[in-house]
Order: sequence, then structure tokens, then C-alpha cells
Amino acid sequence: DRVKIRTALLSVSDKTGIIELAKALTEQGVRLLSTGGTHKAIAAAGLAVTDVSEVTGFPEIMDGRVKTLHPNVHGGLLSIRDDEEHVAAMKQHGIEGIDLAVINLYPFEEVHAAGGDYPTTVENIDIGGPAMIRASAKNHAYVAIVTDPADYAPLIEALKANGGETEYAFRQKLAAKAYARTAAYDTAISNWFAEALEIETPAYRTIGGVLKEAMRYGENPHQSAGFYVTGENRPGVATAQLLQGKQLSYNNINDTDGAFELIGEFSADQGPACAIIKHANPCGVATGSTLKDAYLRALACDSTSAFGGIIALNQLLDGETAGEIVKLFTEVIIAPEVSEEAKAIIAKKPNLRLLVTGGLPDPRSRGITAKTVAGGLLVQSRDSGVIEDVELKVVTKRAPTVTEMEDLKFAYKVAKHVKSNAIVYAKEGQTAGIGAGQMSRIDSARIAGLKAEDAARAMGWAEPMTKGSAVASEAFFPFADGLLSAISAGATAVIQPGGSMRDAEVIAAADEHNVAMVFTGMRHFRH
Ligand code: 5GP
Repeated sequence: DRVKIRTALLSVSDKTGIIELAKALTEQGVRLLSTGGTHKAIAAAGLAVTDVSEVTGFPEIMDGRVKTLHPNVHGGLLSIRDDEEHVAAMKQHGIEGIDLAVINLYPFEEVHAAGGDYPTTVENIDIGGPAMIRASAKNHAYVAIVTDPADYAPLIEALKANGGETEYAFRQKLAAKAYARTAAYDTAISNWFAEALEIETPAYRTIGGVLKEAMRYGENPHQSAGFYVTGENRPGVATAQLLQGKQLSYNNINDTDGAFELIGEFSADQGPACAIIKHANPCGVATGSTLKDAYLRALACDSTSAFGGIIALNQLLDGETAGEIVKLFTEVIIAPEVSEEAKAIIAKKPNLRLLVTGGLPDPRSRGITAKTVAGGLLVQSRDSGVIEDVELKVVTKRAPTVTEMEDLKFAYKVAKHVKSNAIVYAKEGQTAGIGAGQMSRIDSARIAGLKAEDAARAMGWAEPMTKGSAVASEAFFPFADGLLSAISAGATAVIQPGGSMRDAEVIAAADEHNVAMVFTGMRHFRH
């Protein structure tokens, strides 16, 4: 199962490490074939290399669209070396076997991410490269296919150790990796089309991405994990720059995403806002007169849970806010920008991860989310529903006051990012109590009320902030009990989708307590 490498075809867009590899192959006595740009680079390094057009008897044509798409190349990659007919065909047509293919593709993903225009992006769809990768990988019984510069060094080592031969198990692994690469490549292309054409229909969408980094472990230490990027143009944890701190963990990435998607609901022109997240749920969200004020108000909601949390900010992190944040143990800070002063302050906490995104995600933007189930994937369009865009219906005798209405909208925005069942109390642009992820709505209401009482004790307030608050429920109240619990905690206004069989009962309970209630007609389940 060992194959001596006699001829190698090198065709790479990313020329990282290619000269070193070409040198090592030359030392092993391997004959090098190569395409235009790669040939030029290798020849310039003073190494002997044959242009693939000599093999095909054809020049590169159509701006390189057709360079290696030729039977002399594909026959060389696909032939079964001990099949009589194959060998006869090779002899008859003058086809030479190729034992090693080193290929990386036109940088479609990079061109797209850099905002390439339509024709430029289309031109960066590689055709011949994937064809050769797939051909070589199929014929892994005889051909080694290398698609990742990170594999050059192991390849050279393997060749040196095995007298210029590759082993079957090694070629098998390379083939598996090669198909992962072409699958991710085509996924990126299909999703670019879907994005460009604003298509969300599943038939036009594929889920997949390019491995950005392997993590030390997953949600738990005995699970393995990797972080894949889909190429979607959205400021967030996948595209953010890590300015300091160690690599993010699986849980960090998940929580940071939740934090930043939530803070994206508060555009910077509406004033400073801060969200603190624990285990993908917010434990405090607030607006403020300054960013520091917003942070302190978010923290006041549940300062116990905020320990070891993730902080998301909707605008430039300044020195004052940074100085406040570092007083408490925090895992990650994510913000659109960071001032030099803030950077210097945070630098004193070397373990604190600082991520800069360059912007906020648009909560209205299209896109998809996915979740695995046993043997399958659930794919849906992103929840891009925004409370400002829906017509609110007052269903009670009393309508909310202007202040209540502001707080209702604020609470509903937060509730959208809380695991169901979600109950969120808010007052003056500050969460007062959050009940997350309970199996019954009344329990979420109760827990949110208890959290508000804890906060009042911790802060030394005379009464919990739920007194005179607005309350949001991300899905309808199936019974009046959840609402009554909120009313007994002190809520005076309620926002919920409505649509329950027992809406009349729930409305009557609100009216009885002179509570104002609005229906959104838009549910925000989040599981
Ligand atoms: P070079 O820089 O060597 O001129 O080109 C290398 C790139 O061309 C590689 O990314 C390779 O995948 C790609 N490539 C090789 N053959 C073909 C072909 O026949 N058509 C197209 N479109 N790309 C090719």
C-alpha cells in the first residue's frame, strides 16, 4: 500500500510554504509539474519544474479558466496503476501518472469576505482545482492529495521516513480532508449566491463552513470541538479580532455570540447599552447616560451571576468603562471598538479576552441559524423580528404611558434573547429581573421576581425594581397565573404576543389590576 512519488502536480493560489515543499520534493527526486503562477514561483526559486501546458499540449486559456482540465492531467490523476486497461490507455494516449497533487483553491471565501463585487467573486470560483482535488482524492489508492499548507511538513517528514513513499492510511486521511475542503468551498459559493440573491429557501442553502480553529475541547472536557466560519458578512464573534487573552472556549464563543446578538438590538445612536451574559442568557441589560453607567445598571440587575460573565457593549469601550469592568472577574468583553486607554487598562488583566468587531450586527438582517438533531439538521431563517417594526395592539382598558411603552419595548428586545420560557422585567431602560429557560411560564415569572428581590437586597434598595416595572413575555401567557405573578411583583404594564385560547381571561386579570397590556402578534421562542 506504499506508493513511490515520482511525479507531483503543484497548483496553488496560496503560495505559503510551496517553495520549501518544492525543494524537499526535488531532493527526493520527484518531477514537478505546475500551473502558470505556481510554475513561475518555483522556477524563480531556481528549481526544475515543467509547465502543465507541456503535459496538456495546450496553453492556459480564458484567463486561466481552463488550465488543467485535460485528459492528460485527469488521466494521470485517476488511472488505476495496476489495471491493464488503464495502463494501456495511458500508453496509447501518452498519459503519465501523477502520484501527488498539491492544490489550494482560488480564494473565493477571502474575496467574498473582503466585499468583492459580483463579477470578481464569480471569477474566484475555482473549477479546475476542485476537479483535480476530487479526482486525486477518489484515487487515493495511488495518489496523495494535499490541500492544506499545514500538511506540507508532515508530508515531507513522511516521505523522508519512508524513502519517498506515501502510506495508504496517510493518503486516506488526506483524501477525507480534501473532500471536506471541496464541500466547504461549494457551501461558501452556494451561500454567497443565497445572500446575494436574498434567498432564504432551504433548497438554495447549505450549512457548512471552513474550520477557523480547533478548540481544546467542547462544551465539556471530554468533547472535541472546532469553530467554523460560514463567510456570512456579519459583525460578531466569528469575525471579531481577539486583541488580548487566551483562545476562546466553545462555551465562551456560544455565550459571546448571545451577548453580541442581544446588544445588536440597541443601535449606538440610541445611546450606550450593555449586556452581561451567563450561559447564553442575559443576567443584566441596560441603557445608560454613559457606557459606564449602562454597565453599572446592567450589573445591578444580578451582580452575583455577572461573576465570570461575558460583557457586550454597543459602542466604543472607553477607559472609564474598562476601569469599572476590570473590578469584577469577567471572561470576555466584546465591543465594536476599543479606545487606547481602555486597551491599556484591560492589558493589566492578561486573561481577560477582548474582542473587537468593527460594528454591530443588524438585528433585521437575513441569515440562517441551524441546530443539529440526531441524524439531521434543523435550519431556519434568523429571528429578525424587531419590536419597532410591529404594530402594537393595546388590549386592556388602560393604555401604557409613554415611559411604560419605552420599557415594554426594551423588555421585549431583551426577552427575544432569553431562553424560553422568558420573563423580563424592566424599568427605565434597565432589566429588573430575568426569568429564563423554565418549563412553565409561571416559574419564569416567579424566578424573575425572586431575582429582583435578591438584587434589591444586594444593592440596598428599599424595594425591588419590579415595583412599577414593565414586563415582557416572549410567548403568550397560557393562563392568567403567570401574569398575576408579575402583577404581584409590581409590574404595571405587560407586553406579550397574545394568541392564547385564554387571552380573554388574561386580559380580564390585567384590567382588574389596572395593568396596561399590549399584544405584539410576534413570538420570540428561543430554545
Ligand atoms: P497558478 O497561480 O498556478 O497560475 O494557479 C493556481 C490556481 O489555479 C489554483 O488555485 C488551482 O486550484 C487553480 N486551477 C488549476 N487548474 C485550473 C483550471 O483548469 N481552471 C481553473 N479555473 N482553475 C484552475
